[in-house]
Amino acid sequence: MLKTRKFVQQYDLLGCIQCGRCTAGCPLSLTSPLNIRRIIYQFLVRDKLDVKQMPEIWDCTTCTTCTLRCPKGLDPAMILVGMRRVLTEGGRVKPTIRDALESTFKFGNPWGRGKAKRSDWVQDLNVKNIAEGANAEIVYFVGCTPAYDDRVQVVAKAMVKVFEKAGVDFGILGNEEICCGSEMRRLGEEGLFEFLVEENLEIFKQHGVKRMVTTSPHCYNTFKNEYEGLDFEVQHYTQFVADLIEQGKLTFSKEVNRVVTYQDPCFLGKQNGVYDEPRAILQSIPGLQFVDFDRSRERSVCCEGGGGRMWVEASSGGERLAETRVKDALELGAEVIATACPFCMLTLEDAVKTTGAEGAIEVLDIIELVAQAI
Ligand code: SF4
Ligand code: SF4
Repeated sequence: MLKTRKFVQQYDLLGCIQCGRCTAGCPLSLTSPLNIRRIIYQFLVRDKLDVKQMPEIWDCTTCTTCTLRCPKGLDPAMILVGMRRVLTEGGRVKPTIRDALESTFKFGNPWGRGKAKRSDWVQDLNVKNIAEGANAEIVYFVGCTPAYDDRVQVVAKAMVKVFEKAGVDFGILGNEEICCGSEMRRLGEEGLFEFLVEENLEIFKQHGVKRMVTTSPHCYNTFKNEYEGLDFEVQHYTQFVADLIEQGKLTFSKEVNRVVTYQDPCFLGKQNGVYDEPRAILQSIPGLQFVDFDRSRERSVCCEGGGGRMWVEASSGGERLAETRVKDALELGAEVIATACPFCMLTLEDAVKTTGAEGAIEVLDIIELVAQAI
């Protein structure tokens, strides 16, 4: 049971005017019983809430659309994370979540994979390993999913190809790289998040990191906005690569003759306003025809991979938003859905299969399209 008074004070819920803009903007309200306005109402009229009886709180992707739309400056997304915290700290979570949290504590990644295997993906590549004493101007923070997942490793390899072509002096943290903690925090494990922040800051300090580029918008967002004491510049790769192209340091020699749309990752677009750079990269690739989704940028629809949702089943069995996205893309006449996030990549690829769209449409990371064109 959660005592509501503390939450009402902590999240300033008396300021809520019950206008419903949060729920009206929530992409998950299309497929889930999640209704954040109603949840806030329950906080206001009840003394206690049985959070365990509210499975829909796990449907939230923490996309923050509700927070961005609230006219009273409330942060509904974090209210849901706070509710999850009550369950996670009490150990009352599904085995998939428990396993991801335990694995992150033990091995530094949520995928249950060994620490010593983290940099196996670079075995056949000539990449500087900062953990083994190399120096480099830019640290490429690979992230857990690109480091271990076979499909997303291809994205990390494309990144290496692009860095090399542009003559970037970069290196990786090798087997010393550990999870950034973004999703652990959103699954309600604040203690684990704080532990990872401390560990990461120590690793960065030890290796004298001066500048960092990430594959994932989730790592980028948490380093940039949630790591107190991080004192160097962090960029998502789309920002870094868009600059390389603009400065003439990265040029193309091949055409990519495909019709491409773009899935805005929530942690890049809505949460950090990075909308233009990914589009600028796509539009600079020779031969590529770019078509934007109608629901794009601030109105974009989640893939349902964020906020820890990679380890949580939806509370209702309806159509997944990634499936809606694939159908929207087909209607647009797109041959490729480009994205810039490992979670979007996996959820959309899965949706291509479950909607029977294999052969009609492909999911590629923007950096893969760049790598094809250089
Ligand atoms: S948008 Fe803000 S003020 Fe309106 S119902 Fe939601 S939380 Fe309350
Ligand atoms: S963060 Fe996104 S998914 Fe969660 S309640 Fe807000 S709008 Fe809905």
